Amino acid sequence: MGYSVDKSEAIILDGRWLAELLRARISARSEAVFKAINRRPGLGVILVGNNPASESYVNMKERYAKSCGLETFDIKLSKDVTSEALKSAITSFNEDPRIDGILLQLPIPKHLATEEMLDLISAHKDADGLHPFNQGLMMRGGGTLLPCTPRGALRLMDVAYSRLAGDLIESYDDIKEWDLSGKSALVVGRSILVGKPLSLLLQQRNATVTMAHSRTQNLAELCAKADIVFAAAGSPGLIKADWVSPRAIVIDVGTNRLENGKLAGDVEFLGLKDKVAAITPVPGGVGPMTVAMLVLNTLTACEAKEML
Ligand code: NAD
Repeated sequence: MGYSVDKSEAIILDGRWLAELLRARISARSEAVFKAINRRPGLGVILVGNNPASESYVNMKERYAKSCGLETFDIKLSKDVTSEALKSAITSFNEDPRIDGILLQLPIPKHLATEEMLDLISAHKDADGLHPFNQGLMMRGGGTLLPCTPRGALRLMDVAYSRLAGDLIESYDDIKEWDLSGKSALVVGRSILVGKPLSLLLQQRNATVTMAHSRTQNLAELCAKADIVFAAAGSPGLIKADWVSPRAIVIDVGTNRLENGKLAGDVEFLGLKDKVAAITPVPGGVGPMTVAMLVLNTLTACEAKEML
């Protein structure tokens, strides 16, 4: 994949713009579903408690889904809901034929067992791609319901390579899925939500992947060697500007609320934006693509169920 970098400012990888491009693609497909089966793909959202950040994420997800022509259904439960009541909410969505994708907004209160609840969601309605069945398929290199944040992060990386190659991007389909043979990717963070699935998806693209986590001791050294750095540690400013190679593409998944109320990523954005090849901002980078991928998964689940 030949490209040259002849500039001092990084390409800023705009997740809102990319989610808009994807909206056009999803809307066209969801309109085709409506024409074929006379109902809209349905997203069912379960929110437990009234954490303002979770409420705001749920609102964004529902707004994006509606703007793509999907129907949304909510169940809101109080923070002290019993395990049985949450299970029966999940079961009711599993059994509801109008619902194709289910989102259980995380985190849920500590007295509820997160994994047990995620496992109860029908694997065929698993909009977040977190069910063990779908994770197993992904492990084998297949599956269609893939975790949203890693998938969104990869598409932003694809935009970087396309822009560096001088490709014209007018629609979502103009962005190819780049082969990463010979590229080294560093993933900082090993959670089941982001780091682990991201490392699998990168290997499927033929990248040579290094995983770093809280026990890693030579993070600066690993950063310097990476062609692509994915930061998903939840630690503001963890990745220092002088650690990263000037050729690198930096995808910042971190979303950290600072004491002043502002959101910050895991990388030193200001120091890096004049140095690296391409970088995502926080907010406005990976976040909007996570939302878009949730809705894309719901549509995909609907098309599969209806055999379209
Ligand atoms: P997590 O807490 O489950 O996992 C964090 C991972 O980072 C762990 O594997 C840990 O080992 C590693 N880590 C922590 N400190 C480290 C350090 N100093 N050095 C190296 N590794 C370290 O978190 P998560 O759910 O994976 O989320 C990670 C970040 O991504 C958070 O900021 C979260 O808010 C954000 N996030 C953003 C989106 C989005 O859509 N933008 C989606 C999911 C998560």
